[in-house]
Amino acid sequence: MHQRIVFSDFDGTISASETFTRMLARFTPELAAELVPAMVEQRLTLREGVRRLVESIPSACYEPLLEHLREIGLRPGLPELLDFLDARAVPFIVVSAGLRGMVEAALGALRARVHAVYAMEADASGPYLRVHSAFEQGDELLAKVAVMQRHPAREAVAIGDSITDLQMALSAPTVFARDRLCDYLDARRHPYLRWQDFHDVRQALEERWG
Ligand SMILES: [Mg+2]
Repeated sequence: MHQRIVFSDFDGTISASETFTRMLARFTPELAAELVPAMVEQRLTLREGVRRLVESIPSACYEPLLEHLREIGLRPGLPELLDFLDARAVPFIVVSAGLRGMVEAALGALRARVHAVYAMEADASGPYLRVHSAFEQGDELLAKVAVMQRHPAREAVAIGDSITDLQMALSAPTVFARDRLCDYLDARRHPYLRWQDFHDVRQALEERWG
């Protein structure tokens, strides 16, 4: 068992913008307009809705999309956080409910410095994308808690920004939250550290771990 492991969301956390929902709005706008509100209102599970959306995107769109992702900006301080964690042999694991190809394209050279990326796999060999997930569970296409269970640690650290990180945050003794995740954790009176960029995360962990 590791002493400590850091689990980080990707969209809106490592990437400053929501790359996955923007992709859906751009490449499958009509179905997204229909299914996204249904998922928000919980009339449709993420597991079913996200699969239907991704699988309505022509495979020909995938490579240009990845090309675009290679250019996007990441939230500041990630290289410095990875230096800090490397020096203490603490793995940094990315857990995304988006597509692996998108996450890896956006990480670029930093991908080699990340211990693992867990995300959905897109298969672009047919006319439309097909999606596979090794962590389908309950209503979720990628259950982040199931990924955490695969990597037991004495101290799990979770970093996130939205509802899809809530279960991961509730399962971790140390939580960094920004944006809407703060509201969800406030409502459950679950303690967390507020962060804006990865410099904040590094400084807080430095103080806690000495
Ligand atoms: Mg997110």
